[in-house]
Amino acid sequence: MGYQTLDLFHQALGKGDLTLRDVVNTLLDESEKPGDSEYTVAKILRPFTRTTQGVTIQGLDNVMVQFAKCCNPIPGDDIVGFITRGRGITVHRSNCKNIPKIESEQDRLIDVTWDLKGGRTFIARLNIICEDRKNMMYDIMAVIREMNTNMLSVNFDVEGKLARGQVAIMVENVRHAGRIIAKIKKIPGILSVERM
Ligand SMILES: [Zn+2]
Repeated sequence: MGYQTLDLFHQALGKGDLTLRDVVNTLLDESEKPGDSEYTVAKILRPFTRTTQGVTIQGLDNVMVQFAKCCNPIPGDDIVGFITRGRGITVHRSNCKNIPKIESEQDRLIDVTWDLKGGRTFIARLNIICEDRKNMMYDIMAVIREMNTNMLSVNFDVEGKLARGQVAIMVENVRHAGRIIAKIKKIPGILSVERM
């Protein structure tokens, strides 16, 4: 069946005492349902496509800028630009494992700085490990709602009593993300929350 909007998903969660495993089973099509102990919550929204800019690149105007999906930089992160062939500049976190270390690629790296007009939000991906108790997903989503943050996707694997997964949310900057992480950590049964 699949849920097309977050509203429907929220409604489904609000109906009863759902564990993550229940949520997984509800979201997955019959054909996608795995045989035994491993379950995956399907992504409930399409990947978010972000428009350009939000950063300044020294000496360059009108260059196409995109934010790397591997590390999802948000304001406050140290960033670096990577000159792509024919696709402008991709902005990564400075510590992204995809920043090429090899000498021949170093000259494709370029300094970039955040340049925000305000009101804009960025994707932060949170890796969460938690107990799969009743209403866990509901509690996580309640915190996200309480912080006035949009959730883009959720993806959990359940193994036994533990659930591991990732929630993608929209945040203003590193501090905003930090506040949300601190709140999620206070939910009973949460074992760890880290920004990816
Ligand atoms: Zn990256």
